[in-house]
Amino acid sequence: MSIFDLDIIKSELEGKKNATLLLLKAEEKKIINLNIWIDNKTLIVADAFVVYHNTARGPAKGGIRIDKNVTLEETTDLAERMTLKTALTGIPFGGGKSGICMDSAKLDSYMKKEIMKEFVHIIRSDLASGYYVPAPDMGTGPKEMATIYGETHIPECVTGKPLGIGGLPGRKEATGRGVAFSAYYGMKKLFKKEIKGRRVAIQGFGNVGSWAAYFLEEMGAKIVAVSDLNSGLINKKGFDIKKLMAHYNINNSLKGFEGEAISNEDLLALDVDILIPAACENVLTNKTAPKVKAKLVVEGANGPTTREADEIFMKMGVEVIPDILANSGGVIASYIEWKSAKSGSLTSAAEVFEFIDRTIERCFESLLTLKKLRKLTNKESGLVLAVKEVINAMENRGWI
Ligand code: NAD
Repeated sequence: MSIFDLDIIKSELEGKKNATLLLLKAEEKKIINLNIWIDNKTLIVADAFVVYHNTARGPAKGGIRIDKNVTLEETTDLAERMTLKTALTGIPFGGGKSGICMDSAKLDSYMKKEIMKEFVHIIRSDLASGYYVPAPDMGTGPKEMATIYGETHIPECVTGKPLGIGGLPGRKEATGRGVAFSAYYGMKKLFKKEIKGRRVAIQGFGNVGSWAAYFLEEMGAKIVAVSDLNSGLINKKGFDIKKLMAHYNINNSLKGFEGEAISNEDLLALDVDILIPAACENVLTNKTAPKVKAKLVVEGANGPTTREADEIFMKMGVEVIPDILANSGGVIASYIEWKSAKSGSLTSAAEVFEFIDRTIERCFESLLTLKKLRKLTNKESGLVLAVKEVINAMENRGWI
């Protein structure tokens, strides 16, 4: 289902039939057979998808996901979210996404390098022209972005590169930083409460979840539960996140760290102040949402709350900070990396975090103003604001 809820953006689209057409249809969808030789006898053919949803505001920006559950529908949904995220935050990019359907856990770094080289081979002209600027997503990281750079020799054609080769200080922490800031600002503006002492549960302890935990702990919040795909932990006194991150980096598992076991489902229903789904899509559904006790849900992952769950939360009075705002720290930092690659300038991590905080604060304020004016939810306000920007850009470019 498209994330463009036509009921909510009715007045933005009134009399603009062509805008509706262009928003509901991606500019381009590539379905690719990715052929990878893993040795001189074995050929693997993986399904891969590249979707450019809308580039009216700038180059298609969106990560490359390697996961066994990748589909064209999922890639399209994620590209649409990027169009909205970049528009809401005022970052001069459009929306894109790539998905490679392979089990990332079974791929070593050599295999990933071969996959990336083949992938660049297929989309080289889009990278070289600046039409598409990829970044990491689930299953890819700085090393894979370094391969893209190595294959193209164009520093600005990819973001999320390692530090020594044009990567941005603070990029790896950026999404988690934005999630933590959103939680802090959400508590302050929606509940008139300090973040200090608030109890937080986080589903997913990868890049986004672990760095969100890190910054929230720094702000004085108590991270009482975390989980990953294989296990979950609860510690009512609050975890020492730096120690937990060190443990996770060594063991690639939460297991063995101090705390009691908890299932992913129970984590979502914990009696906490803030719940942060930071793993994958569609975890808060019509089955899990009614059990949520947190009053604030901060969407660290893309699309963790289904439309049915959004309606349930609205009735329950649970505030949801939408993904297109809450996890925008990554793309905001990517913009700085892209700009630095073009200009040759250097930016410190502190400056990156400051820019993320101020950008999210500004967008949050616009969202709250519209929410009050039109009696919308946070998610609906974000959608309306973003769609207005995209329509404006399409008009300026003479597309509609
Ligand atoms: P990651 O691969 O680093 O981490 C994902 C984590 O979620 C891992 O701990 C994994 O074990 C866990 N997980 C996966 N499936 C799960 C499930 N079904 N139940 C519980 N835990 C599960 O990925 P990431 O980069 O942290 O991304 C997480 C989410 O945030 C994704 O939706 C991604 O699209 C979104 N996101 C990431 C970034 C970024 O900069 N990394 C930016 C914006 C949005």
